[in-house]
Amino acid sequence: MNCLGGRQLEGLQQQALHTSTPAVAPPCMHQAHRARHHRSRLQPAAALQPSQAGFSQAAAAASKHSRPSVAAAGRSRGRSVVVHAARDFYDTLGVPRTADKKAIKQAYRQKARKFHPDVNKDPGAEDTFKAIGEAYEVLSDDNKRAIYDKFGEAGLKGDAFGGMGGMGGFQSANPMDIFESFFGGGFGGGFGSMGGQDARMRPGENETYELQIDFLDAVFGCKKELEIMHLTGCKTCTSSGVKPGTKPSNCSMCQGTGQLIQAVRTPLGAFQQVTTCNRCEGVGQQFTPCDRCGGDGRERETKRIQLTVPAGIDNGARLRVKGEGNAGRRGAPPGDLIVYIRVKDHAELRREGIDIHSDIEISYVDAILGSLVKVTTVDGPVELKIPPGTQPGTTLLMAKRGVPRLGANNVRGNHNVHVRVSIPKQLSSEERTLIEQLKEQQAKTRVGPFRF
Ligand SMILES: [Zn+2]
Ligand SMILES: [Zn+2]
Repeated sequence: MNCLGGRQLEGLQQQALHTSTPAVAPPCMHQAHRARHHRSRLQPAAALQPSQAGFSQAAAAASKHSRPSVAAAGRSRGRSVVVHAARDFYDTLGVPRTADKKAIKQAYRQKARKFHPDVNKDPGAEDTFKAIGEAYEVLSDDNKRAIYDKFGEAGLKGDAFGGMGGMGGFQSANPMDIFESFFGGGFGGGFGSMGGQDARMRPGENETYELQIDFLDAVFGCKKELEIMHLTGCKTCTSSGVKPGTKPSNCSMCQGTGQLIQAVRTPLGAFQQVTTCNRCEGVGQQFTPCDRCGGDGRERETKRIQLTVPAGIDNGARLRVKGEGNAGRRGAPPGDLIVYIRVKDHAELRREGIDIHSDIEISYVDAILGSLVKVTTVDGPVELKIPPGTQPGTTLLMAKRGVPRLGANNVRGNHNVHVRVSIPKQLSSEERTLIEQLKEQQAKTRVGPFRF
C-alpha cells in the first residue's frame, strides 16, 4: 500500500464506473432520488458530460416515473415520507435567476452557516440546510444549472438513469462523496427517506469499511487498495433471481401489480387500502428461483478497489464510494460503500483542523540569544529561527506549513510551534562561574534606590 500523495480522483472514478447493468433493472426514479441526495458537495475535477440527447430522454423518463412514486409515498401513511413538491432552487438560496456563480456561492455560504444543524437548533433547520445544499449543488454546477433551467428538477433526476445502456451519467462520473467533513460532522446518514419505495427497486444496503491511515497520508492524501466483501449480481441468473431456462409469470394473487387493493369501511367512510402483495412481496411475479442465489439475484464476492483519499481529510470523515455497497435484490441498484477514516497519531505533530501544533524545547541560552533550530513539519524538517529574547511559552508561527484544506488544496493551515525553555537543574563548575559572573554584571547595571 504505497501512497502516491495523490490529488487525483481518477482511480476511484474509473473504479466505480458501472458497466454491468443488471438485465432486469427497469429504470427507476428512486435511483435518481437517492443519487441526488447523496451526491457530493465536493466534485471530482472531471465530470462526464452526457449528451444532450441523453438528457431529454432521461428527463422524459423521469417525469413519466415521478407520478407513481409520489402516489406511493402518499400511500404509506405513518411512515416518514418525503414527497418533493416542485421547489425552486433559486428561491431556496434567495438569489435571482440571473445570479452569477459568485453570488450563488455567497448566498449558499450565508444560508448554510445560518441553518447548519450544529448551530441552528430550530426543528426545521436541518431540512432547510439540506435543501440549501441540494440547491447549491445544482446551481453551482454549470451543466446541472443549465439542465435545471431547461427541464426543472425532473431533468436532473434523469441523470441517475446512468445505468441505462451503460452510457453513464453524473452518477458514474461522481462516485465519491465526502460528507460531514466540511462542518465537522453532526448529522447522520439518512438524507431523505425512501418513502414509498417500489419493492422491485429497493437499492442494496450500504457496506462499511474502516480505514486507518497515517497522519501524513491524511494531510497530503493517498491511494489505498481496499479488499472489500459485498453482494454482487448473481452471474448464473444475471441478477434476475430467475432460474435460467424458466420464465417468470405474473403473480396470481395480485395479477402482476404487486399490490392488493381492499375496500375498508370505517365510521368515517369507505377507504381504499393498498397493501403490498404478500405472495410476491410486491414484485408482481412468480418464478422458479435460481439455484445459485435462491432467487435473490445476488452472491457474495471479494473485490479489490482503489480508493483515493483526498488531501486534508481528517479523523472521523467518511468517504462514499458510489455503487460499491451491496447489490440490490434481483437487479435493483447497488448501495454505496462508506469508508470511515481513522487517522493515526503522529509522534510529534498534532492537528487541529488545518493547523498543526508541535512543541520544541530550547535551552535558556538559546532563548536569550536566539538561535536556529530544526523543527519537524508535515513537509519534513524545516529550520526555524528563534528570535533573541524568546519567552517561555511563546508560540511561533510557521505560515502555510499546515494541512491543505479539504477540497481547496491550495489553501494551507499554519504550523504553531510552542516553545518551552529548559532551565538546567545541574551546572558544571565552569557554567556556574560564568553565571555568577553574569549575576554580578546584572547587579552592577541594576539601578535602584538601594544602590549608590
Ligand atoms: Zn403478487
Ligand atoms: Zn442467481
